[in-house]
Amino acid sequence: MDRYSRQILVAKIGESGQEKLLRSRVLVVGCGALGTVIANNLVRAGIGYIKIVDRDYVELDNLQRQMLFDEEDVEREMPKALAAANKLRKINSSIEIEAEVKDVNRKNIEELLKDIDIVLDGTDNFETRFLINDACFKHNIPWIYGAAISSYGMTMNIVPGATPCFRCIISSLPAPGSIDTCDTVGVLNAITSCIASIQSNEAIKTLLGDKDSNHKLLAIDLMNNSFEKIAVKKRDDCPLCRDGEFEYLNKKGPSEPIKLCGREMIQITPQREMEVSLEYLKGKLGRIGDASYLGFLLKFRVNKYELIIFPDGRAFIKGVSDKETARSLYAKYIGE
Ligand SMILES: [Zn+2]
Repeated sequence: MDRYSRQILVAKIGESGQEKLLRSRVLVVGCGALGTVIANNLVRAGIGYIKIVDRDYVELDNLQRQMLFDEEDVEREMPKALAAANKLRKINSSIEIEAEVKDVNRKNIEELLKDIDIVLDGTDNFETRFLINDACFKHNIPWIYGAAISSYGMTMNIVPGATPCFRCIISSLPAPGSIDTCDTVGVLNAITSCIASIQSNEAIKTLLGDKDSNHKLLAIDLMNNSFEKIAVKKRDDCPLCRDGEFEYLNKKGPSEPIKLCGREMIQITPQREMEVSLEYLKGKLGRIGDASYLGFLLKFRVNKYELIIFPDGRAFIKGVSDKETARSLYAKYIGE
């Protein structure tokens, strides 16, 4: 307990609060600018179990704001979840840290939520947030929404039964291209750190049963130092709060290709769960293009395209803007 002595001194925490945190189990979805700061804070604060799920790998332009990564992670082409877990285990070896390199989707989210007390949103897209919203309401688990872009961001605690849900704030998916992304308007590391720090603190408060938690939508702009608390009401026509309809969780049909946040890159997910031998695939693809494998993911360049293939069979297809081309490149080089 010594390592948490400064935190235990804080009136609302104390020894019993710290013990509660050490018994708590948290899921961090997405380990980018928000997720790295959230995970860092929670690991240092002594949350007993932290699971980090992320689908991406570390690139040079992440280092400006994704606080757990360094140049070595970029050179080694490390998946973010693994790079984060490596760093976090050096920070606190007395708690349990689990990392999963995968896309959170409707097929795996309920398994990921098993025995979890609270979910932290470190994602960069609405689709995954709607899914978290559905799954958390179904299993009665609170989650902390967070988003940041440019110099502004927002966060809110979403507690099934107690607060409006995420669809009460935003009713459905915005049209593609209708919203700014960090690839079009940029993002400052101060706002992502700020929002993520509030999220991690709200998680701690919620785990301790604090009633003063943030049940309003907190909107912050660091350029003009505005901090606004916006009251959100349950919508009369909310499909989740009113009808208990899990639209995103219960979606039918095959997994669709996903355009990744603002990048010229499309993710293809295999329809069945599988494990791919990247070593073997490297040998096969190396004969028709340029293939490299450093132990975590396979990069394959052919013509003007680049395919980044993960051990779970997912691939990011770079250099394409339409899903059909991405799908056919996947079928051609990886197969189904
Ligand atoms: Zn709702």
